[in-house]
Amino acid sequence: RPRGSHVRRRLTGKLPPWSAPSRSGNQVSEYISRTFLDQQTEMELPRVTPTETPRPMSQISGLRGLPHSAGLSAATVPRFGVQTDQEGQLAKELEDTNKWGLDVFKVAELSGNRPLTTIMFNIFQERDLLKTFQIPADTLVTYLLTLESHYHADVAYHNSLHAADVAQSTHVLLATPALEAVFTDLEVLAAIFASAIHDVDHPGVSNQFLVNTNSELALMYNDASVLENHHLAVGFKLLQAENCDIFQNLSAKQRLSLRRMVIDMVLATDMSKHMNLLADLKTMVETKKVTSLGVLLLDNYSDRIQVLQNLVHCADLSNPTKPLELYRRWTDRIMAEFFQQGDRERESGLDISPMCDKHTASVEKSQVGFIDYIAHPLWETWADLVHPDAQDLLDTLEDNREWYQSKIPRSPVDLTRPEQGGPDRFQFELTLEEAEEEEEEEEEEGPTLDTEVWESPDTERLVPEASPDPGALPLDNQR
Ligand SMILES: [Zn+2]
Repeated sequence: RPRGSHVRRRLTGKLPPWSAPSRSGNQVSEYISRTFLDQQTEMELPRVTPTETPRPMSQISGLRGLPHSAGLSAATVPRFGVQTDQEGQLAKELEDTNKWGLDVFKVAELSGNRPLTTIMFNIFQERDLLKTFQIPADTLVTYLLTLESHYHADVAYHNSLHAADVAQSTHVLLATPALEAVFTDLEVLAAIFASAIHDVDHPGVSNQFLVNTNSELALMYNDASVLENHHLAVGFKLLQAENCDIFQNLSAKQRLSLRRMVIDMVLATDMSKHMNLLADLKTMVETKKVTSLGVLLLDNYSDRIQVLQNLVHCADLSNPTKPLELYRRWTDRIMAEFFQQGDRERESGLDISPMCDKHTASVEKSQVGFIDYIAHPLWETWADLVHPDAQDLLDTLEDNREWYQSKIPRSPVDLTRPEQGGPDRFQFELTLEEAEEEEEEEEEEGPTLDTEVWESPDTERLVPEASPDPGALPLDNQR
């Protein structure tokens, strides 16, 4: 069994009682206060003089001022949240808001390149979230414009168009019949908000690149889910900008609950969590319970957040399930971003990450490999969970895979050495967390890859690397 197929964490009896999660949280605080705090309150605390320079690590990087278009008042909110002289055409495109295959590229064109603001504002109205959570329209638009301005327009893939796409895909997946009335309004709000912020201030390079180059961000987050932690910090921090607190009328309890869910969902978009997420989803499918109404029965936080994490993760990896003309445009963008990272790695004398070398990468093969090893296993499992709701989407995915497969050029090398030709000779790289790897003894069967699994570029879209000898690299050789 290849390493990486063992994927579940389990708490053991060796742990002290207060180190178990949530349920014993009270015990922890009780223990701490009984043991330490009562004594400390009697001590004189040292007086700290505030200084003008911020303490190290006390600031979230990447924060900028408000965009020019913000500063709206309640009376001046445009119909779709953004100023446009093509409101009629925009209205027409937005009729597809509830459909898989909305042309988000067109929405961007018609909205003065504010697709995230436009689509989010539309989804919130469509779902009546402004009324349900007493969100002032001008506050919503001000937050969305501020959020959108913190996505990098000069990053080829991870810009606000991708965020808009993921938010809209999440919105559609939440409406699938098998999940009808399953999630509360707060959970729906959390999932859509998480999608909107999930890549904010993305610099266009992978976690591994940030770690390898000793970046500030990697330092800040100790190399663990560096980008995802940053997206969350920025997304939440921007709520504190002027007239940006869209959650101002939520109760303290609702705010805490939403925050916890959003954190859980965005952290789960880290591709190094993919195998674990998928393994748990498969387990859920095997033991799936449905109510008398035929919808999923999810009766505890763990199950509910697990479905939401997978839902947002699916939305994040939904490009190959979209109509081919949209999928191809996304592929162009992700490859442009990868190649830019590859160029930076080449210039810095670093190893070039898989699929990031513009001189050797095969766009078509990488997509076939991405579908075969990542996207299809995930979507197939999702389709089982919500059966038969996702059948059309799975068909599109398979058609798209055939299209890219048919475009793989037959080179002379392939003809003389056919064993190097197809995507079945690809290797995949996955980052598995160290802690999880120690749990080899776990009896549960996780997803299996046909190929070796080892250290990854940790990009959002896992990429295959063509290799003449897939068996050559042992798992551990890069650790
Ligand atoms: Zn993403």
